[in-house]
Amino acid sequence: MRITCVGGGPAGLYFATLAKLADPGNEVTVLERNPAGVTWGWGVVFWDDLLDDLFTYDPVSAERIWDAAYKWDEYEVRATGKPTTHLAGYGFSLGRHRLLEILAERAVEAGVEISYSDELADLGDLPPSDLVVACDGARSRVREAHAEHFGAEVEIARNKYIWLGTPKVFDTFTFGFEETPAGWVWFHAYPFDEHTSTFIVECTPATWSALGFDELDAAAGTEKLRQIFASHLDGAELIDQRADLGGTGWLNFRRVTAQRWDHGNVVLMGDSAHTTHFAIGSGTKLAMQDAMALADAVASGDDLPVALERYEHRRKAALAPLQRAARASSNWFEHMPEYAHLPARRFSYALSNRRGEYATWRYLLHMATQSTVPRTVLRWTLSARRWSRARRRTDATNVTTGHAILPNTA
Ligand SMILES: Cc1cc2nc3c(=O)[nH]c(=O)nc-3n(C[C@H](O)[C@H](O)[C@H](O)COP(=O)(O)OP(=O)(O)OC[C@H]3O[C@@H](n4cnc5c(N)ncnc54)[C@H](O)[C@@H]3O)c2cc1C
Repeated sequence: MRITCVGGGPAGLYFATLAKLADPGNEVTVLERNPAGVTWGWGVVFWDDLLDDLFTYDPVSAERIWDAAYKWDEYEVRATGKPTTHLAGYGFSLGRHRLLEILAERAVEAGVEISYSDELADLGDLPPSDLVVACDGARSRVREAHAEHFGAEVEIARNKYIWLGTPKVFDTFTFGFEETPAGWVWFHAYPFDEHTSTFIVECTPATWSALGFDELDAAAGTEKLRQIFASHLDGAELIDQRADLGGTGWLNFRRVTAQRWDHGNVVLMGDSAHTTHFAIGSGTKLAMQDAMALADAVASGDDLPVALERYEHRRKAALAPLQRAARASSNWFEHMPEYAHLPARRFSYALSNRRGEYATWRYLLHMATQSTVPRTVLRWTLSARRWSRARRRTDATNVTTGHAILPNTA
């Protein structure tokens, strides 16, 4: 089978690898508009569920991702005028750049051809292919070329956000809310290697304009944010990747949905099919899980239309609860100022409950674990859980040959 993936992000590179591992006879090419080693964004977070899937589908790249991942142990919540509070839960993070490096290296080992600096401008320029996978991101050109058929819709979220990096290495995942004379501004920050943290800043559009961000260039804008968040940054700078390119990185999140994901031999995957608000940090996971499902469907031996239909159904069913959670979560942040009056512990509980899924016992646990001893016990318990899950995965990997296991779960 000749497969062309348009876009060498996490979805495209991972699918290309799985398709090649499943059948070395497949000719798989990835077209990526950027040069090798160039990408946008900073670190992304993920949790055990993605790692479990990665170890199932390709233990080799999973092991490399696990080794490179930064492990953090809880969430810290800081807000002007309130004592710091803590939310239980561990997670992992990894620089997008490093993730793509690992995935590209693995794809090449598997025999995938990656064509860098190769931007698809017109669908007529595609090489002859039995399957074209549109994994070209939220602004997918392939999707837009058939927008009507795919029933694609883009909804622009209300808040302004900017995805920055900083050499300040936060101890753990940290939410910081600062009250300014123009309203609340907050950050979601987490370390993703020994030297760098992601630092996403968000605020309402009214606060954004009142603070003058609509008129400041990248350098002046990041300097202003550095002053607003000075007490969290210990003098470290904030870096806007747009600074050298002109303009600034401020954006409104684009919620992409598509009613249909396939059109003849073309199929949407990852952000080109659906985006998931960063407030729940799951877009990369979902993009890579799409890749797993599509690889299963293609390997099933069914006729292409049947396989693509099955892929779409499987993924839409899996996505629905997370997309609801993402919407609830982004709504919470859009209404954040309404929660600002809550006392610290209730404020951080409201933040952790923003998906609206927690029960009373969680509330009680949350209140109890604001004190040092119960919090430390909970952290130890969760660390033991992380260690035991990691060990289980590694043991399972050791009994495989290091080749992809593709369970036929489609
Ligand atoms: C602020 C922010 C924070 C986030 N944090 C997290 C997080 O913590 N955890 C998480 O799981 N997710 C996170 N995400 C979401 C995540 O970044 C995306 O969901 C993920 O990158 C989707 O992967 P993808 O492969 O579908 O698309 P992309 O990563 O967008 O990759 C698409 C690729 O296609 C290439 N391309 C585009 N057009 C063409 C063309 N015409 N020809 C050739 N190549 C082309 C692009 O250069 C790019 O390399 C975040 C997103 C944002 C905005």
